[in-house]
Amino acid sequence: MKRGTFLAALAAAPLIARAQEEYDPAVSAPGPALRVLLGGAAASAIDATTFAYDGRRYRGTFTRRADGTVLSTVPLEAYLYSVVAREMSPSWPAAALQAQAVAARTYVLQRSSPKRDYDVVTSEADQVYGGIEAESAAATAAVDATAGSVLRFGDAFAQLFYSSSCGGHTESSADAWTGGADLPYLRGVVCPWCTASPDYAWTRVVPADAVARAFPGADVGAPTGLAVGDTDASGRARSLVLTGDAGTATTRGTAFRSALGSRVVRSLLIRRIANGTGPGTFVIEGAGLGHGVGLCQWGARGMAAAGKSADDILNFYFPGTQRSND
Ligand SMILES: [Zn+2]
Repeated sequence: MKRGTFLAALAAAPLIARAQEEYDPAVSAPGPALRVLLGGAAASAIDATTFAYDGRRYRGTFTRRADGTVLSTVPLEAYLYSVVAREMSPSWPAAALQAQAVAARTYVLQRSSPKRDYDVVTSEADQVYGGIEAESAAATAAVDATAGSVLRFGDAFAQLFYSSSCGGHTESSADAWTGGADLPYLRGVVCPWCTASPDYAWTRVVPADAVARAFPGADVGAPTGLAVGDTDASGRARSLVLTGDAGTATTRGTAFRSALGSRVVRSLLIRRIANGTGPGTFVIEGAGLGHGVGLCQWGARGMAAAGKSADDILNFYFPGTQRSND
């Protein structure tokens, strides 16, 4: 789930009332119907409750839109079977998978809008959805164990975000994105639980010319130094400063990360930057992978391994929210 969904998610929508009208009793799994936009590949019905799309099997039924793309209608809970298995390793402890299931369910209900003819797409722009082949028994059990359960803040669905590992401190929604809402349950917490993540501490060597290209419009001459500028409350870099033999330039942290690649600069919790031993390189050391807002998935794994429940996990990362069934 990425930043692009955030503003759209601000407009909570009454999915359930509409979805129950669309509920197809021929589809066996319970819950409201969800409209999932797949894409333009070939699709054909297998039976009343499954169909094939692009060589994979999916639950639900489908129609083809006027633009040729395939729109699937699937019970929410059946959609979650696949999403939870794709968004978190099914080998992880049950409580972590259950927390992920509640988070994914809340996300999709909050995301849904009657202003579009679909609720979600199938990529990381929303939540990764891979059809029946992606399902696993452990993820399905986590969805079933939390069936219908969502997080609310006051009368509304909570705005749910999650990322791989926070590196020791989750990020506030207000700091993460320009215009991000300052939500009481998304202000960032100290997280001691994700130390087992392979990205808890990372080091990347990046070429200085690639770094210079991350400061568009600036000509600092030959790069000689790179440093974090100011940081936010979680310690993430709000800005980076490039020094060269002809001047200095500053760019926003999020722009820097996106220019160099979110898998290279794995988070903005940058601990140290040094000049590389080889010519023309910088060595960046950081903590965590992802934007860091909301649920820390490796932290959920750590809490579950320590005997914490799904409620413990959700209360820790989303303090002040309430879990309810509806
Ligand atoms: Zn964490």
